[in-house]
Amino acid sequence: MFEPTIVGSLPKPAWLAETGKLWPQWRADGADLAAAKRDATLLWLKAQEDAGLAVVTDGEQSRQHFVHGFLEFVDGIDFENKVKMGIRDNRYDAMVPQVVGPLALKGRVHADEARFARAHTHKKLKITLPGPMTIVDTVADRFYGSKEKLAMAFAEILNTEARALEADGVDVIQFDEPAFNVYMDDVRSWGIRALERSIEGLHVTTVVHICYGYGIKANLDWKETLGGEWRQYEAIFPAIAASRIDQVSLECANSKVPPELMRLLKGKDVLVGVIDVASDRVETAEEVAATIGRALNYVPAAHLIPCTNCGMAPMDREVALAKLTALTQGAALARERYTDSGQPR
Ligand code: ZN
Repeated sequence: MFEPTIVGSLPKPAWLAETGKLWPQWRADGADLAAAKRDATLLWLKAQEDAGLAVVTDGEQSRQHFVHGFLEFVDGIDFENKVKMGIRDNRYDAMVPQVVGPLALKGRVHADEARFARAHTHKKLKITLPGPMTIVDTVADRFYGSKEKLAMAFAEILNTEARALEADGVDVIQFDEPAFNVYMDDVRSWGIRALERSIEGLHVTTVVHICYGYGIKANLDWKETLGGEWRQYEAIFPAIAASRIDQVSLECANSKVPPELMRLLKGKDVLVGVIDVASDRVETAEEVAATIGRALNYVPAAHLIPCTNCGMAPMDREVALAKLTALTQGAALARERYTDSGQPR
């Protein structure tokens, strides 16, 4: 009951990459970089185990960015000539690669880190992938001519990598879809279909993560425009509830999302964000337990998984560590308060 996990990413140590950045530069290259990535992965596996997480991740220590880290392994993409493009409905500009031909995987994407992490933990292991709609929103298309066609092409290669991750012994595969919160009509017309194509044939637990983004300025400014209640989830949760995805990761802590919207996810496991990643203030166990208590009004205890609001990639390392501890201590307090020895009251 209330077995905690995180969305996925964790800060990179200063000796691996620049700190505090969404697109950090690596501190090494070649074999030295590969070794540093493994060292950082090991460090975070230990930290997550020490904190008491039930499902651990590789902390995304081996990828520069959650979307580009996948795209680097895809043929049909021109990484040499990036162009400036407004992404997430022009919320901010990013330098994005261009799709210039038919998409195909060059080979395995996350085999090294997945197998390395698998070999070094007995906990359940989660690996994250970008969702097809979010990828489509983070590249400039010069070839497919339709967002839907491009998304389905990405879904096919994501599925190939996801099946291979399952064969590597990964227990949970999560697709990050922040774009679901931005293009709600597209979610219903082809976003869910692309997501379901991505998980086709998988037997592992599947998750979709939908949030309001990291605590960077462009996101904070955007949130100011969303009004007193953020109801984007309302437009998409019924379609997600009807889909084959097993779990939904959403933000809840310090968020203007009305918690009753979680009711729309009946039948799904809900990864409730009880840790704010847009603030360096570390939550108390009491605050975490209280957020879990609020969510319990709308999500059955057996389906409630305490989690972070989003990835922790750009955070300070010590703050992230303290937040992992707050997460597990708050979950333990909630277990004590809201259940009888692990059984819901
Ligand atoms: Zn997120």
